[in-house]
Amino acid sequence: MPPDDAVPTGGQLDEDHPPETNGRMAVCRRCGSRTDDPAGSHHVPAERQLDRVRDWLAAESKRLDIKRALEARR
Ligand SMILES: [Zn+2]
Repeated sequence: MPPDDAVPTGGQLDEDHPPETNGRMAVCRRCGSRTDDPAGSHHVPAERQLDRVRDWLAAESKRLDIKRALEARR
């Protein structure tokens, strides 16, 4: 695992989910990251988006932890 303060990459987002664009803008509507093109096959977060992407990934992994914990309790 990379350290928490590692710079997030588009690859981490790609692993989490495929980019969801509206087909006209190169932006993923799920995480807000820029994508490589309007069809969106890869995330390419802009430098100013990196803090936001890191927060998004942290929130997403917390959400998954909570979901797993809830499922394990059943
Ligand atoms: Zn995304």
